[in-house]
Amino acid sequence: MSGSHIKRIPYIRIAVKDVKRAVGFFQDVLGLERISEWPTGAIFDVAGTALAIESGVKPNVCLLVHDVDETYQDLKAKGVEFVSEPKDQPWGVRDATFADSDGNIFVIESFHCKVCGKACESYRELLEEHLRKHR
Ligand SMILES: [Zn+2]
Repeated sequence: MSGSHIKRIPYIRIAVKDVKRAVGFFQDVLGLERISEWPTGAIFDVAGTALAIESGVKPNVCLLVHDVDETYQDLKAKGVEFVSEPKDQPWGVRDATFADSDGNIFVIESFHCKVCGKACESYRELLEEHLRKHR
């Protein structure tokens, strides 16, 4: 395939040691809007790009693709080293993880709603307009 599978960067994930303390910083000091939170992390909105903070993870950049499996096959055929295979995550996305030539971690991800099938542009759209509404 010519061109790139990559459509945009929907979020960046950084590693934190203390989630509560970090939430305080990003919410109260930086003034970001928190759109999701769970025991080991939280997601903030930065003008449409999500900033995920999480403990126990390697920092990574998420790349939105239309089809995770197709992108995975294509990149694998080009010799890209994958850290994890394509899989559906319990929070509703499908993703796979690879490392670049310097060991930086990238997640290819798609936000397809499993109920109605729509390909969302962001996790926020999937979460607020699908996962919460279909419930
Ligand atoms: Zn839906």
